[in-house]
Amino acid sequence: MTSGSDEPVDCERWASERATLDREYPLADLPRLRDVLADPGGTLRARFEFARDARGRAIATVTIEATARWRCERCGLSFERPLRSSSDVEFVADERAEPSDGDREPVVAPGGRVRLADLAEEEFLLAAPLAPSCDEPERCARAPRPARESVAAAPATRRPFDGLRDLLQKTDRT
Ligand SMILES: [Zn+2]
Repeated sequence: MTSGSDEPVDCERWASERATLDREYPLADLPRLRDVLADPGGTLRARFEFARDARGRAIATVTIEATARWRCERCGLSFERPLRSSSDVEFVADERAEPSDGDREPVVAPGGRVRLADLAEEEFLLAAPLAPSCDEPERCARAPRPARESVAAAPATRRPFDGLRDLLQKTDRT
């Protein structure tokens, strides 16, 4: 495991060598995660498996794993949960380039170089829940509700639109 230094790496070279690179980043060092997490404690482990596709283009599988602290959208309390994710990417020269394989995410690598931390950060953001929930109905119910949820008298396990559907069904019957 290497950490620290994060100069852009030569993806063409690593693709030719079919290299697997492992990195570790403190979550606090990845600035775009600041707005997503309850606090920046924790470490992101990332693996980059470089290769070439059938047409000789530089590709990689990016796999990340982190235990992060999220803030529950419902009760506002923070909770810890692991995040794991993996994506296949293809390195392209600029934003206009289309990846040759539709299943691969294009990653712009100016001059064939990328910062691995950027790749890891992007993968984390792709996989991060849009509305994190602690999924602990008891804890959620005990916690003071944010003001905007004061109308929601339904049990914590219900989704907001269930109530609306009940309401519509009742209206239909009258
Ligand atoms: Zn909660």
